[in-house]
Amino acid sequence: MMAHDLSCQELADLLTEYLEEALPADVRVKFEEHLAHCGYCVAFVDQMNWTIKLTHDLGKPQLPSPGHDDLLKLFRDWKTDQS
Ligand SMILES: [Zn+2]
Repeated sequence: MMAHDLSCQELADLLTEYLEEALPADVRVKFEEHLAHCGYCVAFVDQMNWTIKLTHDLGKPQLPSPGHDDLLKLFRDWKTDQS
């Protein structure tokens, strides 16, 4: 398996397991090899690590919903319409 180098998409798919230290050692090596030469993924991992840490600190151990801001905006628009 995993004999090839990871793509950015594959790295993103593995990120949660990586942060939970649930990756097998050989996959983890591939993951870190990719990070060593891909600044984009380093920034992505940093951001996700920070987000997860923050949500853990708040006692809500789940990833933020991608549609959250859109829902808030819809809610605000709805409130404006009602007043
Ligand atoms: Zn990458």
